[in-house]
Amino acid sequence: MTYFGQPQIKVKFAAMASDSIPYIGSQQIEDVLTYKDLIPALEMALADFSSGPDGGVVQPLRSSVPVKNRDGVFLSMPGYSRNQNGLACKVVTIFPRNENTPHPVIQATIILSDANNGSMKAVIEGNTVTALRTAAASAVATKYLAPDGTKILAILGAGVQAKAHLDALRYVHRYSEVRVWNRTHARAEAFAAKYGCKACKTAQEAVKDADVIATVTGTSTPILQSEWVKDGAHINCVGAPMPDQQELDPVLVRRSVIYADSRESAVNESGDVIIAKAEVFGEIGEVIAGKLKARKNETTIFKSLGMAIEDVVAAKLVFDKVHGTSTSLL
Ligand code: NDP
Repeated sequence: MTYFGQPQIKVKFAAMASDSIPYIGSQQIEDVLTYKDLIPALEMALADFSSGPDGGVVQPLRSSVPVKNRDGVFLSMPGYSRNQNGLACKVVTIFPRNENTPHPVIQATIILSDANNGSMKAVIEGNTVTALRTAAASAVATKYLAPDGTKILAILGAGVQAKAHLDALRYVHRYSEVRVWNRTHARAEAFAAKYGCKACKTAQEAVKDADVIATVTGTSTPILQSEWVKDGAHINCVGAPMPDQQELDPVLVRRSVIYADSRESAVNESGDVIIAKAEVFGEIGEVIAGKLKARKNETTIFKSLGMAIEDVVAAKLVFDKVHGTSTSLL
């Protein structure tokens, strides 16, 4: 029998044991995946990613299959971390026509494989992992880039990422005040009441004198103006993932030192960077690895676009926690 042109390999289909592969759902992920574990795992993954071949990260470009007759798209994001012994692929479908139907617009699923032998270990709900790993990456950036004496946190947006960022950013700093602004004010009020922060009627009011700001909205046009932001603040810019979308005033982008998760993604995919014609100073992983300065008392932006390697290490952590297996590094 031949398999991908390698005649010497005899494929043992029975060994795949597909009927016993566990599914790990959203609630189980929330129960086991703590920022205490996730933030250091992401910190290492970001540093490994920015260390080239020495970092042992393999992360090919995302591939995309358009489903034109439904206006949908099917994306696959595979990755491998040698240092965390993680191997996984996230598949994401985006079907905008699902709005106001029982099916979510964005549905993500992670297939986790055993990095030692290639066997499938688990299928893991991907939206929850995405929310937690994205916030954890921002928390890592904030740990390195927030100004000394950080006291005030402002969150613009009140959706899934807003809640995840509130938790993750609270893990790295103790804030004396947390403010939230949202396009729909009632949702900001509900968010503030539920999670113990202050709802603001305008974004300007929310970010006044803020040390750390998270922009976590679905906007395509700037919601944060440069003159509202104090010098030295750190901004985690998480929304506006396409070249024609912006969350930030271009003047603010040009005035700031920009760090990205991936420089390549930021210069090719981020409208905030592209439209402002701004330069990316470096990757946050280079800062973690000690190769680049954290210019923490200047105004800084962490432009997050998300990476497969973040899903890989988070999924591996979830599996190890659920199954009580070792998370120790090789
Ligand atoms: P949600 O749908 O849960 O929340 C969206 C939020 O954006 C809501 O607060 C909504 O306000 C607000 N919003 C939507 N449109 C506008 C607008 N035109 N102007 C101002 N506010 C608006 O989404 P998520 O929290 O999951 O995602 C937020 C952003 O993060 C998205 O842009 C998403 O693409 C991005 N993202 C980035 C990732 C990364 O790795 N960098 C990973 C995952 C998501 P309202 O309540 O009024 O509707």
